[in-house]
Amino acid sequence: RLELINPYGIDVTLFANEEVPIEPVAVAELQAMLQLQETIEDIYKACPKRFSVEPVIESVAITPDFHKARGIPVGTILETSGFLVPQAIGNDINCGMRLHRTSLTADQLKASVNTLEIACRSIFFEAGRRIPLAWPHREALLLSGIEGLYATVDKTFDEGLWSYFHRTDRDETLARIERRGCLSASRVHGLEDFLGHRERLHRDSQIGSIGGGNHFVEFQKVERILDGQIAHAWGLEPGMVTIMVHTGSVSVGYASGSFYRDQVRLRHPTSVRRPQNGIDILPIGPEDGEAESLFWDSMNNAANFAYANRMFLALMAWASLENCFGETRCELLYDAPHNMIWKEQSKGYETYIHRKGACPARGFDAMAGTPFAYYGEPVLVPGSMGASSYVLAGNGFPGTNQSAAHGAGRAISRGASMKGFDREFQQFLEEFRVVTPVDFRRQDIRQRSDIRHKKLADLRQEAPFAYKGIGSVIETIQSSGMARPVAELKPLMTVKG
Ligand code: 5GP
Ligand code: MN
Ligand code: MN
Repeated sequence: RLELINPYGIDVTLFANEEVPIEPVAVAELQAMLQLQETIEDIYKACPKRFSVEPVIESVAITPDFHKARGIPVGTILETSGFLVPQAIGNDINCGMRLHRTSLTADQLKASVNTLEIACRSIFFEAGRRIPLAWPHREALLLSGIEGLYATVDKTFDEGLWSYFHRTDRDETLARIERRGCLSASRVHGLEDFLGHRERLHRDSQIGSIGGGNHFVEFQKVERILDGQIAHAWGLEPGMVTIMVHTGSVSVGYASGSFYRDQVRLRHPTSVRRPQNGIDILPIGPEDGEAESLFWDSMNNAANFAYANRMFLALMAWASLENCFGETRCELLYDAPHNMIWKEQSKGYETYIHRKGACPARGFDAMAGTPFAYYGEPVLVPGSMGASSYVLAGNGFPGTNQSAAHGAGRAISRGASMKGFDREFQQFLEEFRVVTPVDFRRQDIRQRSDIRHKKLADLRQEAPFAYKGIGSVIETIQSSGMARPVAELKPLMTVKG
């Protein structure tokens, strides 16, 4: 049913979702993206020496939550050899999802939901967000991620959230983060503004920020178990409170991304016309070796930061719970990116899997040596702040290069959600609890209609009616063989940035 003009014969698979019409603008964007083939042909013809091997687009797969973004649609899995497409990660490097299980029940949480809201407001948006980072820790984080933090932060460093960090087990934590939360970089590039003063103890203004829009920290209830055996193995029980964190590298990633995209653009041969779709490529070969290592370093800097950002947000959620309920267990189930590039060797040569808004969903065999060697990689698929989210187990489906959808996907644009939907939005606000930095109950805020309007507009753009139905996305993931559903989670309280 998809009318795609594909004159280049690129292998494109679209996993459609019967209930949701495919937006023509997203198809047009996908169409324009395929002009990548012209870009590589043009550059290869003009400067073949820049490529160690002939550049090839191996495959393109599109997940059911597919929608228009800027240049490359969200929900794209692009595999290449001989070249990289920096833009195919998206602006938010290592945007991803993290899930914790807790020792609390949804009934306990509901009984003290107002107290929890107050605790969250103070910890996420006020004094509680205290994450001192000295230069050696900051550098270790950017160069080697969560592993770097465990290696450099000792127990004398116990202010604020670090006391929660010290209650986590290093080996257990690293085993439950995709690539152990560590993408090693040889140096830090292009982040001068974010590094602070080297010697001084410095409060990081970025780390521990949720970010705007569709990012969130959500307390959820395990509503339904869909695969008893896997749920048991993963410690998920009906009625249990889980914490889901969705964020990425915020302004740090934006800085890294602009930095390497500029470098790559400047390397476009002057004799070759600019790519019509604005999508630049980075040839893999000796001539571009330095640019390539700079690219990996700075992507990895941002990715490492994002792993830590999600970790600290989860620690804040844990601290909020303990503030209300006393000692509580809060254990990591899994943390994985959905905006990133992975190097692969499965074809016998090096290929690059670009996932932009798609989760890795490997099968059990590829997860050997991790806690997921029996059932496959956990796949975390959120719905919206007013709909269910799902935990699934990856099957290593080859048709999507071992990937699955990463959300419900937008059904309507942010602009469109501002027109109409008054009743739906009102109903949503009455039914669901959302915590934002703006406290609508405070007297001074009540009098500021400008602040109220702005915040309500932000929420409205992310309201449940702006997203596709998560049910049909999950059905498509299951029926196509990407992953199998393990548990359904329902939102209890959503913290938005
Ligand atoms: P993205 O990674 O493309 O920014 O968004 C991922 C998905 O998160 C969206 O497609 C949507 O399904 C989901 N989502 C957005 N906001 C929320 C929220 O507040 N809570 C939950 N549970 N899901 C959300
Ligand atoms: Mn993001
Ligand atoms: Mn995301």
